[in-house]
Amino acid sequence: MAQSTKRIGLYPGTFDPMTAGHVDIIRRSMKLVDELVIAVAIAKSKGPLFTLEERVEMIEEAADAMQGDGMASVRVLPFDNLLVQLAKEVGASVILRGLRTVTDFEYEYQMVGMNSRLEPDVETIFLMAEARHQAVSSTLVREIAKMGGDISHFVVPSVVERMRKKLAEKK
Ligand code: ADP
Repeated sequence: MAQSTKRIGLYPGTFDPMTAGHVDIIRRSMKLVDELVIAVAIAKSKGPLFTLEERVEMIEEAADAMQGDGMASVRVLPFDNLLVQLAKEVGASVILRGLRTVTDFEYEYQMVGMNSRLEPDVETIFLMAEARHQAVSSTLVREIAKMGGDISHFVVPSVVERMRKKLAEKK
């Protein structure tokens, strides 16, 4: 039987919430692979603001809106196991990560070093978001929102609305 040549990419993250930086990296990744698996870390220990289901939904909505010619099909999955194990399970040959700052670089450098020892066949590809999205982080978006700031520059409109509801629930 002919081997499938479908290239599967894995983009992991916490997405609490999904930001314009994440959307930018998802769009770039969708142009590079045939199927993109976006893995949402359950991240119980981090005590995420948004539930796993909410984070999965945000990504599914954004990915649906970017579907089109030359764009990968997208699958969104929760995960709490070892990343290279998940890559094997879903048949991914590449892990996609976004790079922002030198601090990201140091952490990612270590991760690649360790992951390539665990699973030499899986490559990691780093992508940079458009300049105006590079400084955006979920942590800052949560902080700005909690202090009543305008997050609409940093997240898609549906996430602005979800954040509004979430903070109202918490009051
Ligand atoms: P993690 O807990 O894995 O860091 P995040 O949701 O914060 O999860 O980020 C997921 C991935 O998206 C990481 O590779 C991160 O570097 C990347 N990323 C997040 N924000 C941006 C951004 N503004 N520009 C480029 N990459 C980003």
